[in-house]
Amino acid sequence: MPSQETKREPLKLIYVAGYGRSGTTLLDIAVGQQKSVFAAGEITALSRHVWENDEYCACRKTVSDCDFWGPVVERWKANNADTSVSQYGALLDRSESLFNPKRSFAKLIPSRDVSDFERLTGSLFSEIAAQSGTNIILDSSKLPGRASSIHSNPNIEIYLVHVVRDGRGVAWSMMKPYSIKVEEGIQKELKPKPLWFTAARWFVVNMGAEIMRWRLPKKRSIRVRYEDFVADPEATVKRIMALVGEEYVLPEYGADVMKPGHQVAGSRHRMKDEIRINKDIGWKSKMPRAKQRLFSFLAAPLLWRYGYFNKSNDDNVANKTQDGSMAGRPA
Ligand SMILES: [Zn+2]
Repeated sequence: MPSQETKREPLKLIYVAGYGRSGTTLLDIAVGQQKSVFAAGEITALSRHVWENDEYCACRKTVSDCDFWGPVVERWKANNADTSVSQYGALLDRSESLFNPKRSFAKLIPSRDVSDFERLTGSLFSEIAAQSGTNIILDSSKLPGRASSIHSNPNIEIYLVHVVRDGRGVAWSMMKPYSIKVEEGIQKELKPKPLWFTAARWFVVNMGAEIMRWRLPKKRSIRVRYEDFVADPEATVKRIMALVGEEYVLPEYGADVMKPGHQVAGSRHRMKDEIRINKDIGWKSKMPRAKQRLFSFLAAPLLWRYGYFNKSNDDNVANKTQDGSMAGRPA
């Protein structure tokens, strides 16, 4: 359907920010069960590598064959003939880093990159809205810098969902290597990451997401703990729907079964036919105590802030509060 017929203003963007291996793809799929939301996966990856390499969509077709992304990208290319997908991918690479002086000083020193990002990304979101028939899109690209770059577009109303997971579990997961299995959604070899590396990056990325939350009006962001989400996925989806001011509707298959849609990139979970969420807390028994203690030492302030030193949270009691706060912890 032609994009101009369905162009709606403003577009509501649920942006999922956080570190890898924190359940962001599962959350994307869970929210995607709501018919009013189009859950797109990691949209930034589409132009960075998915389209060029013709990687797999969650619908099990390659993106060029996918009924959703094929037409979206072809129309985007036709509307933006001056820019190739790979040039746009390179622009995203330059624009979505956490520290981007061009973005920070754009009001004082106009930047071609900043205006191109706004135009080309706005055009892509318009095409996604047109193809999906909804003006509520979920993007789980994770990068806080991308949220910051999108925030400057007055036609996009951004709602930030900051997903955190106990960094010790993240570090333990990052220590596991994965080899390439393109059809299973693993597009590149994932080498094991040293604990100190994950601790440093986990800290910086989460701080980036925190800064983005401070920049937004209070009612436009929430924090979701992975542990609370997997304990009660329905409660988390309800919080996110309330955030964007939309009604929660019990999904067709019930609250406990989820079916991926057209998540364009993300973790391997998106390539399953059907997902029932299980909490992954195996690291608590498998990760050597010395490594757990080292991570705790390196990232203590944020582990404390997110309640991971609080023993009462150990059993992943679902967080039922509406503002994202937990008892005794700042939101
Ligand atoms: Zn697809």
